Amino acid sequence: MAENSTVIVELCSRCNKNPRAHGHDWCKSCKAEAERNYRDSAEKRAYLRGKEEMRRALAAAFLQIGGAGGFSQVEISNMIMQAPGPQWSDAQSN
Ligand SMILES: [Zn+2]
Repeated sequence: MAENSTVIVELCSRCNKNPRAHGHDWCKSCKAEAERNYRDSAEKRAYLRGKEEMRRALAAAFLQIGGAGGFSQVEISNMIMQAPGPQWSDAQSN
């Protein structure tokens, strides 16, 4: 006696191609891609924020020099490399 069985596979609500991961609306591939995108964008936001903090810190350091004219390129380069840069506490307060 042949037994008929039907397995209903729900497809990923994102790509509509792959079966959903257990307990999720999306397939494993779509979940992985979304997690990767989120991680990449979080890193990018952190990088850009750090870049802006560094610019602010350097601008503030140069404002304190006073009479900035007359410095050589080497002196300016040294000042930039010796500038303490933004602190973690600065980033948290903005
Ligand atoms: Zn998918």
